[in-house]
Amino acid sequence: MNAEERQFEIARSLFREANDAFFLFDPRTQLVVDLNPAAQRLTGLEKHLACTMSLRDLFFSSGSGDLDRLALALNRTGFFHSREGYYLRRTTSAALPVNISVSRIHTEPKPVGLVVARDISDRKRALEALEQAEARYNSLVESTGVVVWELDGKGVVVFLSPAFETITGWPRADWIGRRFDALIHPDDLDAALRLHHQAMQGETLPRFELRILTRTGDPLVCEFLLVTKIVEDSQEWLLGISRDITEQKRIAKTLEQAELMRQARDAAEQASRAKSEFLSNVSHEIRTPLSALLGFNELLAEHPFLQQGPAEIQEYLGNIREHGQLLLALIDDLLDVARIEAGQLRVEREPCSLSQIVTDVVESLRAGAEAKHLKLEAELAGGTPQLIATDRLRLHQILVNLIDNAIKFTDRGGIRLTGRMMDRPGGEAALVLEIDDTGIGMTAEEMSGLFQPFYRVRPALRDGPRGTGLGLAICQRLARQLGGDVTVRSIPSVGSTFTLMVPVGVPEPDEVARSQPPGKHQEPPSSRETASPVPRLHARILLAEDHDANRQVITLRLNSIGAEVVPARNGKEALERVRDAAEQGRPFDAVIMDMEMPVLDGYEAVRQLRAGGFTSPIIAVTAYAMSKDRDECLRLGCDDHISKPIEWDRFFRKLIQLLTAQNGSSASNEG
Ligand code: ADP
Repeated sequence: MNAEERQFEIARSLFREANDAFFLFDPRTQLVVDLNPAAQRLTGLEKHLACTMSLRDLFFSSGSGDLDRLALALNRTGFFHSREGYYLRRTTSAALPVNISVSRIHTEPKPVGLVVARDISDRKRALEALEQAEARYNSLVESTGVVVWELDGKGVVVFLSPAFETITGWPRADWIGRRFDALIHPDDLDAALRLHHQAMQGETLPRFELRILTRTGDPLVCEFLLVTKIVEDSQEWLLGISRDITEQKRIAKTLEQAELMRQARDAAEQASRAKSEFLSNVSHEIRTPLSALLGFNELLAEHPFLQQGPAEIQEYLGNIREHGQLLLALIDDLLDVARIEAGQLRVEREPCSLSQIVTDVVESLRAGAEAKHLKLEAELAGGTPQLIATDRLRLHQILVNLIDNAIKFTDRGGIRLTGRMMDRPGGEAALVLEIDDTGIGMTAEEMSGLFQPFYRVRPALRDGPRGTGLGLAICQRLARQLGGDVTVRSIPSVGSTFTLMVPVGVPEPDEVARSQPPGKHQEPPSSRETASPVPRLHARILLAEDHDANRQVITLRLNSIGAEVVPARNGKEALERVRDAAEQGRPFDAVIMDMEMPVLDGYEAVRQLRAGGFTSPIIAVTAYAMSKDRDECLRLGCDDHISKPIEWDRFFRKLIQLLTAQNGSSASNEG
């Protein structure tokens, strides 16, 4: 085989075996004259079919006119090599991206053209995947809000990622080619320049924060996550990643402030609780000896020896009683204020008789009014319900306070209490009680602080009525707690009107039955109760009380109405006495139990007594005048609860009532 034959053979096997598609064509008509097996495979065309087609039928390009350029180049130079963007049509599937080379082969008698097409779909797919990955990566970077930036060694901005625009409001083009200085908050510029210098020295910087300025001049806090020096082709620059953490900082700061506020509030609440606890303890400590003082005072006043003595003695004793009672009222007020301030004031909602409350209040204050020759009258308008749902004791307390004030600050004329119902749009019907007086009145200025604790209009008036300035503050807060309010109108030298408004839902009938079990209700003192003398009491009573003076007073008092009293100094002794008495066949008719005692307290003693089957009445005595104590006592099995100092009349009547209910015949009216 000569050289020519060898070349021919090589060309032939190249044509046959190549993986690339070969098309031979007539350069003049551009019709295909032959194609290799690879070309048949790729296009899916049989040779006879392919030979009816021109290059234009087989190839197309994505850019218009590219095929013309190909033909032109071929005619001019006899040779063309394509870049991307050419496709080979196929019969079986979508066009194939190809790279094509075209050349003219000088064969005799006429030249032929050769197109070699190389399948580049794999490469294209890889490229596309890369582009997609890059786009995804970019959008990811954008979505995290980080800005990728580059600065050259002199601090000139060379690159900014798109997020820069969203964050700062500046077009990126405004900063490319400019030094970064003006972007930095003036106070942070020194630090920024130092950091730039350090980074250019190749130092690794820890994360840091700088304030940068937006287009509108607002500072943004930026965190610099990464700053790294890059060296390439003897060029040096900085690549950095930063993000805007202004909002995060703001939230963190708000949270921090909220936490500080919470701590401060907790501390204040703690202090307030401590204060109210302290006050309640002090109140207890004062009430106990005060109770003894008032008790002995009364015993003295009634003592036959002193009753025959000089008149001043009764006056002095009366003074002691009056001031003792003022002290007691003061303690109660302080306790109320402390509870209100500590947010521990709770009010009940129970069915109660409005006219009963009004009568009780008016009658309890009538003596005071009469002593000053003042008229005191009350009138409830038609339409006011018999039963209302509110806190009976608190309503009573507010009215006593307001009417007592009216009496205190009125010297001529009188005091009038009127009540009526008022419809409130969208709310419960409300009761409006107005207390009118014809007293000294107040100016607008004097009224300004009226409902503040410890506020007194004329504190300098030494001979004026005494007071602590707590009453009205308590009244208003109580009224608000009940869902209402206390307000005032007044004209100096003419008189004042205090208006109490309280919503009073009308109670359900069965609620009434449930809430008033016979004999278990603490009644405010009522005039009807005090009208008749206390009957004699033939009963054997156990008195458990650790305070010697109080034990003595209560014993003397009970003796004075005929009762036999056996003392005990703590709960343990009380249990022993009850057992002994039962063994001796002389059980006690009733037990008076102080709840705060050493060794074994009253709460535990009552529990054990009831558990042991003791069924006679037990009356609890505490120095706390809180409804919580009362509830606890009743829950443990006491029949009633009274607070120190004891109001004797009420106490005796209660005791007699309980004993009568128990066996029907312990009390008699022979005394
Ligand atoms: P206080 O225990 O001092 O009476 P209050 O809070 O009840 O405390 O009253 C505060 C002040 O309001 C009183 O000191 C008095 O100056 C004034 N005030 C209250 N009620 C009347 C009234 N009906 N007429 C005139 N002044 C009154």
